[in-house]
Amino acid sequence: MKLENIMNSLEQKHPGEAEYLQAVREVLETIEEVVNENPQFETAGIIERIVEPDRILTFKVPWIDDQGKVQVNLGYRVQFNNALGPYKGGLRFHPSVNLSILKFLGFEQIFKNSLTTLPMGGGKGGSDFNPKGKSDNEIMRFCQAFMLELWKLIGPETDVPAGDIGVGGKEIGYLYGMYKKLARENTGVLTGKGIEWGGSLIRPEATGFGGTYFTDEMLQMKEDSFEGKTVAISGFGNVAWGVALKVSELGGKVVTISGPDGYIYDEAGVTGEKIDYLLELRATNQDIVEPYAQEFPGAVFVPGKRPWEVKCDIAMPCATQNELNGEDAQKLIDNGVQVVSEVSNMGCTPEAVILFHKNKIPFGPGKAVNAGGVAVSGLEMSQNAMKFSWSKEEVDEKLKVIMNLIHEACIQHGTEEDGYINYVKGANIAGFLKVANAMMDQGVI
Ligand code: NDP
Repeated sequence: MKLENIMNSLEQKHPGEAEYLQAVREVLETIEEVVNENPQFETAGIIERIVEPDRILTFKVPWIDDQGKVQVNLGYRVQFNNALGPYKGGLRFHPSVNLSILKFLGFEQIFKNSLTTLPMGGGKGGSDFNPKGKSDNEIMRFCQAFMLELWKLIGPETDVPAGDIGVGGKEIGYLYGMYKKLARENTGVLTGKGIEWGGSLIRPEATGFGGTYFTDEMLQMKEDSFEGKTVAISGFGNVAWGVALKVSELGGKVVTISGPDGYIYDEAGVTGEKIDYLLELRATNQDIVEPYAQEFPGAVFVPGKRPWEVKCDIAMPCATQNELNGEDAQKLIDNGVQVVSEVSNMGCTPEAVILFHKNKIPFGPGKAVNAGGVAVSGLEMSQNAMKFSWSKEEVDEKLKVIMNLIHEACIQHGTEEDGYINYVKGANIAGFLKVANAMMDQGVI
């Protein structure tokens, strides 16, 4: 079966959807072998079916700002594939949001959720609304208006959204409040909820913690650890702070954080009270990068640049897609990087990934590295269904087990003849096979 033909036809059907086509190409390129070993997949049109979402809802979101002016944003929910369980995937609120980005994220989510071993399908949604600089009341009004449309499509057994860029605990609270009012039910319809009203312990840190556990497994394959390592990360959002916290716990030192305007280099390390300070700034929707440099004089703000020019042992992109390109990858390699672990979704461009593979640098792809977030969301769904909650230690232990299983699956399907582990291939094949087999079992629907 020629997957290139499917790719060509997809490019003709969806011209201009660059991120979506990039994500599909990356998966198809790595699964061709297993698809050809399973001719039943071709007869059943598994690939043609898996690359298109089940359905997409697009809606307008009118809301009133603090000046009394009506603002209009666009809202989306992409329900991609529910072979393994209810659609599951975050909501992103960012001005760059468009259908291509949400389709790429929803497509990735299918395989990521499959890797977690939990019963969850793939979906994604969001809006071009920018929470930055908005008052809490504006954010609340926007979330309520957004949910007024979305609630008809979601439910604890059909589609369970969560957070992503621009959607943290506060936004989930407002969204949940409106859902509850409209549906007249208190259920686990969203994950990332507050601890007192159905949330899971560890969920806020889960993506960062899970990503760090996975990276630790990658280091262990080299008989190494985080101890004494210098780590460059990007962003400082939901994901990055969990990474910063766990890396320092494991003996590493995070020396960079970043925002769209540049990065901070802090030789002393982003730890302890500095992380608390950053979290305070984030809670009030403020810029963090420049104020950090003012607050902590040892730190240097490098405007207009990305952190990948800094010498580090480990690089962990934590901000957004395509934030580390071929040129950045070359700089990291020249500076002796030992492991690159993508915590953001599709954080590295294809050129960067090719360079890491060519230079035999262990490279963990987002769908494996950041799966801890959705895994703990899955555990939140389980706790909601049981009407019971697990302790922090219990959730953390389950998260570690899941990250270990994902790492094992990558080794099983991604180890090459010379012993190099191609984590991209391993994650894609392991994630794909489970979904494809479930689709075979469930017939043509
Ligand atoms: P947040 O909005 O909390 O944080 C994003 C961070 O990245 C912010 O510090 C933001 O800076 C920065 N940023 C955004 N755009 C850019 C850019 N173009 N260049 C440089 N920095 C930028 O998002 P999350 O932490 O939730 O998500 C980060 C990544 O992790 C995304 O790829 C997301 O899809 C992925 N992910 C998130 C999960 C979660 O549980 N939240 C789960 C799995 C994956 P500023 O605030 O100043 O704009």
